[in-house]
Order: sequence, then structure tokens, then C-alpha cells
Amino acid sequence: MNDCIFCKILNNEIPSFTVYEDENFKAILDIAPATKGHVLVIPKEHSENIFDLSNDKAEKLFLVAKKITTALKNILNVSNFNLIQNNGRIAGQTVNHFHLHIIPRYSLDEISLWVPHENDPSVTENFANEVKNAIK
Ligand code: 5GP
Ligand code: ZN
Repeated sequence: MNDCIFCKILNNEIPSFTVYEDENFKAILDIAPATKGHVLVIPKEHSENIFDLSNDKAEKLFLVAKKITTALKNILNVSNFNLIQNNGRIAGQTVNHFHLHIIPRYSLDEISLWVPHENDPSVTENFANEVKNAIK
């Protein structure tokens, strides 16, 4: 993709600090880290979001993420992490090339991901069934 910033990083047209690379993925330090050690895992094949990520890359992604998260745990001496992946503008996606965030968490780092809401149990059961039936 010509105007994709992550494709440019993958092609070394834009510099980045690589922490991991294999035939399918490159992982780099985030330019504006949420916390120290914030890493982005980027599939080399351009896909915009989870919906057009290939099944093959989807399968392989978490093994790579696990390896990198384990390395960060060991070198940073941190055992709390969020793995986050944004799809769409409302969800916070700013770069339209699929990527997974690995974010080490520190006490008092003041990152808040969501606010829990009260739930209606009758709606929940119906919804669970609806989702179950929609999964292919
Ligand atoms: P999103 O909001 O799309 O889930 O995350 C995009 C991430 O990419 C952000 O955390 C942002 O800081 C990071 N980012 C954007 N441009 C660059 C860049 O040129 N280099 C690096 N290393 N990270 C970038
Ligand atoms: Zn791209």
C-alpha cells in the first residue's frame, strides 16, 4: 500500500526500532509509547484490520506476541501487560494496517481501558445465544 505508514516502515522507507522479525511479522517500538516497552507487532502482509487479516497470520500472531511479551517481562521485570488491537476509528485505530499492541503495565501508570457498566442478565443470555449462532 503506497500511503501506508506501516508498509513504509516494513520497506525501511521510514526508520523504526525493530525488536523482532521473521518472514511474516516485524515488531517495533511504538514511536509514542503508552508505557516503557510498548511494542507493535505488525504483519508484513498489508491488511487493514482483523476482518481482512489472513487466517494464517491470525494463527501465527499470538505465538509471536507470546515470545515478545515473555522477553519484555524478563528484561523489564514487569509481569503485567495489556495486548490490545484496535479496529476502526471509533475503537481508536489511527494506522490502517493491522497491528497488535503489547503494553507493559506499571503500578500507577494511569492507563484506563474501559469503564464497566451494569448488565441486564436476561439480555445477556439472549445475546450470548445470538453470538454463538453467528460464529462460523
Ligand atoms: P492505533 O491507534 O492505530 O491502534 O495505533 C497506532 C500506533 O502506531 C500508535 O501507538 C502510534 O504511536 C504508533 N505509530 C504511528 N506512527 C508511527 C511510526 O511512524 N513509527 C512507530 N514506531 N510507531 C508509530
Ligand atoms: Zn500497510
